[in-house]
Amino acid sequence: MRGHSHVIKPLLDKEYPTVSHGRGVYLYDIEGKAYLDGCSGAVTANIGHGVQPVIDAMNEQAKKVCFTYRSQFTSEAAEALAAKLASWTPGDLDYVFFVNSGSEATETVMKIAIQYWQEQGRTTKNKVLSRWMSYHGITMGALSMSGHILRRKRFIPLLEEFPSIEPPYCYRCPFNSTYPSCGLLCANQLEQAIHRIGADHIAAFIAEPIIGASGGAVTPPPYYYQRIKEICERYNILFIADEVMTGNGRTGKPFGIDHWGVVPDLMALGKGMSAGYTPMAAAIASRRIIDIIAAGSKSIMSGHTFSANPQSAAVSLSVMQYIEDNQLITRAEERGIQLMAGLQALMQKHDIIGDVRGKGLLCGIEFVKNRTTKEPFSLNLHVTERLIEKAMQKGLLIYSASGGIDGQAGDAVLVAPPFVISEEEVNELLFILDQSIGEIEVELKQEGQL
Ligand code: PMP
Repeated sequence: MRGHSHVIKPLLDKEYPTVSHGRGVYLYDIEGKAYLDGCSGAVTANIGHGVQPVIDAMNEQAKKVCFTYRSQFTSEAAEALAAKLASWTPGDLDYVFFVNSGSEATETVMKIAIQYWQEQGRTTKNKVLSRWMSYHGITMGALSMSGHILRRKRFIPLLEEFPSIEPPYCYRCPFNSTYPSCGLLCANQLEQAIHRIGADHIAAFIAEPIIGASGGAVTPPPYYYQRIKEICERYNILFIADEVMTGNGRTGKPFGIDHWGVVPDLMALGKGMSAGYTPMAAAIASRRIIDIIAAGSKSIMSGHTFSANPQSAAVSLSVMQYIEDNQLITRAEERGIQLMAGLQALMQKHDIIGDVRGKGLLCGIEFVKNRTTKEPFSLNLHVTERLIEKAMQKGLLIYSASGGIDGQAGDAVLVAPPFVISEEEVNELLFILDQSIGEIEVELKQEGQL
């Protein structure tokens, strides 16, 4: 957009291209330039752009009614969407509270967890434990549970004191250990934290099954979540899976936590739930939790004006239906294998790639100055931002996952294209990424950094 703009954009001194339209895995700006959407926007546009059945569902619902207030009506669309979600979720995670963003979803599950204990007279159980290197949203409650250093920093005095444990970050193990001989020290730390704080003060533990925005698809080792769940159960603490990024098929299974075969007590969804066609998110609760609240004060003390609006519900339902009809979760798994193999090949070629990781179509790349010592680049070099900019110039969009680690290490990106990506398009993505990383390497050599 040239000339004066009234829109507050992420960087106030930067010019952004103006989008014209999207088709499949491509976005086009008004100058006619094509961009391969290698990160589905913010890991959101899971079924690609311009999908006709979703546009049809959007029009059909709009003709009937777009908005009704949840205190006055339910709708066929919201009922059908909740039933569809319940058929995808593991175990007894059958009850859906609709909200409009991932942050609202995590705040809502936090409130449901606290209310669940209050209903049983356990009023001191009101802290939510989380991990460093995690991101659960930008609002104050969600940020209190987040360990994303950069995003927290400015607001620390205003945040709740919710303690955090170390992340399951095997590439740079916080305990200088190695799986499996570590015995899952990172999971066991939850038990230590519970001892220190007291189970009577803890409502829940929240985790992204695979860490997304603050580290780049950091994937815990096998049995990590089994151990976490055991500890939570032993101390009467609810386990919340934040599936805002990993949910709805992104990792090649319906939900990220399914890779560990663990059933959480609460789940937060967003992003891919509507694949970006409309704002839509959800807090999902197990039957046991809703039964307790139903037998007590009968109402969850939360809600938003747009919660469960029929328009967003119909659109989100059609997105889930489209994923089912086209077996796109299997597609995400298959293309994910191709993408990961391609990233591993890039790692052979480019020494600045320290690690590649992830599951399905949620892949992360971490960049280092020295692969042997894992020495990171100085953050002042802005390696991630430069790479993203270079790739964008060449027509590829990738997502920054830097800034959340610990202020020392931190150059990481997410590669997470729509599930509908073809084999050829994955190759194109890898080709542009290869060129972009190669050019950054040349620049860093010229600057004396390598
Ligand atoms: N949780 C996770 C795991 C996320 O990745 C995000 C967004 N990146 C959020 C919560 C917050 O979602 P939103 O931006 O829709 O508020």
